[in-house]
Amino acid sequence: MEDTPKYQGLRKQLIEQLREKGIQDNAVLEVMTQVPRHFFMDPSLINFAYEDNAYPIAADQTISQPYTVAYQSQLLEVGPTDKVLEIGTGSGYQTAVLLGLTPHVYTIERQQLLYKKTQRLFTQLGLRPKKHFFGDGYLGFEQSAPYDRILVTAAAPEVPKALLNQLKVGGKMIIPIGENEQFMTRFTRKSATAFDKEKFGRFRFVPLLQNKS
Ligand code: SAH
Repeated sequence: MEDTPKYQGLRKQLIEQLREKGIQDNAVLEVMTQVPRHFFMDPSLINFAYEDNAYPIAADQTISQPYTVAYQSQLLEVGPTDKVLEIGTGSGYQTAVLLGLTPHVYTIERQQLLYKKTQRLFTQLGLRPKKHFFGDGYLGFEQSAPYDRILVTAAAPEVPKALLNQLKVGGKMIIPIGENEQFMTRFTRKSATAFDKEKFGRFRFVPLLQNKS
């Protein structure tokens, strides 16, 4: 796999579009300027890598739209020492963006085929999340909890309680909530029992499903 001047040029243009659409976080935009999205696309769709759209990947899932990746990453406000849990590894593109912001990334995928495929890709690209595993992200990952940040990249009808419990006090979770259409939602843990909830823009995600397959 190669990153060529052609792809770098297309990527710069995409980042400019994201700025025009309102993304302001320079750390996020800088990382997205560095990460070659075409590495994470289905080979038949590689020419669309720098279009601002979601595309199919294996197991009937999608690689998120770049605007959505930027929007979620911006709301997450990741610092370089933050421990981050991502639910829904998918193609691994969002994981790669998170790894540009902090080395402490844990990521879960429930589709075994996709998990295996993306594991090979991470190895090939030298990307090293602290942990990438096959499991049900509805349950979070208790062993490494609590987390400073949790990012859910699939739609949930309501927020999974296990995930709220695995946030540090002061920690934040970004999760799209809703059935056919979702509101991007940010939970901030104020104390052992209190959470702030903020609602942002509307999006459409593939569903967060329970159990493994
Ligand atoms: N960040 C990914 C998004 C992929 S789409 C990317 O940009 O490529 C959402 C992903 O969440 C899918 O891969 C889907 O299989 C996964 N998913 C759905 N429910 C899940 C669950 N309960 N646990 C872990 N992953 C889940």
